[in-house]
Amino acid sequence: MVRVRFAPSPTGNLHIGGARTALFNWLYAKAQQGKFILRIEDTDEARSRKEFVAEILGSLEWLGFSWDGIYYQSGRSALYRGRAEQLLQDGKAYLEKSEKGEAIIYRVSPQKIKINDLIRGEIEFDAGVIKDQVLIKSDGTPAYNFACVVDDADMRITHVIRGDDHISNTPKQVMMYQALGFDPPYFAHLPLILGMEGGRLSKRTGATAISEFRALGYLAPALVNYLLLLSWSPGENREVIDIREAIKLFDLKAVNKTAAAFDLKKLDWINNQHLKVMDVEKLTDEIIPQLIGRKYIPQNNFDRSYLVSLVKLFQPRLSKVNDFCDWADFFFLEEITVEPALEEKFLKTDLSREFKLFIQRLEGLKVFDVAGIEACFRELAAELNLETRKLVHPIRVALTGKTVGPGLFEVIYYLGLGRTKKRLLKWAERSC
Ligand code: GLU
Repeated sequence: MVRVRFAPSPTGNLHIGGARTALFNWLYAKAQQGKFILRIEDTDEARSRKEFVAEILGSLEWLGFSWDGIYYQSGRSALYRGRAEQLLQDGKAYLEKSEKGEAIIYRVSPQKIKINDLIRGEIEFDAGVIKDQVLIKSDGTPAYNFACVVDDADMRITHVIRGDDHISNTPKQVMMYQALGFDPPYFAHLPLILGMEGGRLSKRTGATAISEFRALGYLAPALVNYLLLLSWSPGENREVIDIREAIKLFDLKAVNKTAAAFDLKKLDWINNQHLKVMDVEKLTDEIIPQLIGRKYIPQNNFDRSYLVSLVKLFQPRLSKVNDFCDWADFFFLEEITVEPALEEKFLKTDLSREFKLFIQRLEGLKVFDVAGIEACFRELAAELNLETRKLVHPIRVALTGKTVGPGLFEVIYYLGLGRTKKRLLKWAERSC
């Protein structure tokens, strides 16, 4: 039975790299009907924090990576000490005294260590250049490489799937497996994730915490979809994929060997693909708290079906859930502001006559609906012999303060005659 683990150190939030490692472990467990274990590597008391544990667990849950068991290294010191003492007795380790205390050190013997990495293939290391390894530090806490091996063996981990940055630890760990008399697991090292300009992921290039992506309005399935594509492809140039399907298609051997670049634009595109097909009622549920937060709608007693209609209007274009509040603000604000640059570009020419004639026509409509609004507009443009775009942009800017958005006639319909009239008259009367 396949048993994998994700072993975060709670010294920070869960970031893109960690989430990708968690995903591939979880996915492999699901694909193989195995178990996915969580191990919190919190032996570094000075740097580990409870808040980070909570943040990491919260993010993993949100992403949908449920685990089959959780261990905290901080509660397992006796096990590590016992194993280190065993190596002492076997003569494979020695004590090193200092003012701070007594460390247990593993004696490295020169040898060649070969691993057959499931992603990178065969890698050979020369242990001759590896110095003796600390097992238990002088403060009594275990060193990462040792605790990791003791735990992976104790937890019967079959596959260690982790980032490439741990490759140099692997020969040290293999030596410890041998010393302890355990069979090493399979190793699979995932390629690095770089920023778009190469180099390490930084805050600027997207090394934002998963919880921040969540707060920005990214959907968990979209983020998971993007993380998948960072190091694996479902084939046939497919980009949008549901996790249940990925479980069926996934093969560790098909994981890319080369580094991937984190591309925020691509993530936005994937997020849009997921948002587009999301149930509009659910999307509205996500948006409502944001609208309340901005005081665009009251806590209760708002017209939900009106909101759903507005959400539908914007849904095909949204990159993030949060875009809605920014893009649809003019539906909620009493007064809209038109930036000077837009005013200069679209509302400088006197269109008071055109605006007033348009209002008259709208007022004359028997049924105020999208088709009627469009007919009013087209008839007026034809009558005035005006190119429609000469009128569409100024009206849009006057009504919304923006140059892009959903169809203008729909915007007018959902704004209603009263607000449309008021906003257009403001410009018509100003120009008189
Ligand atoms: N705690 C280590 C890390 O966060 C785990 C490495 C491993 O998976 O062995 O990178």
